[in-house]
Amino acid sequence: MRFADIIGSEDIKKALVSMADTGRVAHAMLFYENEGCGALPLALAYVQYLNCPHRHDGDSCGECPVCNRISKLIYQDLHFIFPVNSGSKVQASARPTSETYLPLWRELVLKNPYFLESQLYETLGIENKSGNITVAEAKYILEKLSLTSVEDGYKCVLVWLPERMNAEAANRLLKVVEEPPGKTVFIFITHAPEKILQTISSRCQSFRVLPASKAEVGRVLSERFSLGGEEAAALANISGGSIGTALREAGETEEYSLYMDMFSDLLRGAHEKNLFSVLEVSEHIAALDSREKQKAFCSFSGDSLRKIYMVQQGMDAIANMRQQETAFFVSAAQWCSPSFCERILGQLDRASALIDRNVNARIVFCDLADRIFLSI
Ligand SMILES: [Zn+2]
Repeated sequence: MRFADIIGSEDIKKALVSMADTGRVAHAMLFYENEGCGALPLALAYVQYLNCPHRHDGDSCGECPVCNRISKLIYQDLHFIFPVNSGSKVQASARPTSETYLPLWRELVLKNPYFLESQLYETLGIENKSGNITVAEAKYILEKLSLTSVEDGYKCVLVWLPERMNAEAANRLLKVVEEPPGKTVFIFITHAPEKILQTISSRCQSFRVLPASKAEVGRVLSERFSLGGEEAAALANISGGSIGTALREAGETEEYSLYMDMFSDLLRGAHEKNLFSVLEVSEHIAALDSREKQKAFCSFSGDSLRKIYMVQQGMDAIANMRQQETAFFVSAAQWCSPSFCERILGQLDRASALIDRNVNARIVFCDLADRIFLSI
């Protein structure tokens, strides 16, 4: 990540560059932002600038081995601490730390460094309860910092959401934050500075990362999504300058229309007795790029079938239909047989379970499409 890749925050970039250039590197920094406003990519660009041996014109070179390792988040002297909890992706007996989830963290940051806290928990499979930073984490970092540095530059510890740290962990870290070993930098990124132990925040040089302008958010959206100008502007409006929030909303909007298109094509094809078209849709579902998305399609279809069933029972008013989908569900309710929804709901659960067990998606969705074709 280079400063040039970061949207906005020009003043902070300048301050960070000047700190590194003059050698007056703060050993503890606090980046304070509203969720999703870009403090994490900014911190990563700073770490890269600080360590790049070929930095020039106020930015890292982006090409040397150091830049390369930092941008892939595999630089050995860059450590991450973030809130975790035990969840479905670790053994029940394990006491997870950030290290446990590091591959998933890397994947998420590389895909979208503006992610929201809830998206981290979803990625780690711990969304049922909020994450914590425990004393085990503090011990782990102290151990890491006591070793000689592997790379030649600064050892950097990036703590994402220190407000999730319990008092024991914070006290444990306090001494090293007060008097860090040479060439060590702590960067805390917070959404709630008032919840951080004051003894820690008072040791930090603070930076307020401001929300992006509506125009900047709109530009990011239209670069990443095939949204019309009006749609992008509307999302930019409700995002409050949080690129992370805007990206999530746009992703959900895009996902919703993709699933809705596939679901309605599937039912329409079955209704018109067009087996070829039904099987073609099943191929598209199988081609979704993750098992999570294939399962999400099943759950979306389940919800849609429930809406159709409600309409069939004359309960349109409480079916919670979006305005743009009402016409389709009302007509589908007429051509789906009375027992169709119930029968296919069971098949969707089955398909989802088979996907979880790694059964070939093309076979699972071909079978599902076939059953829909026969049952409608
Ligand atoms: Zn470089």
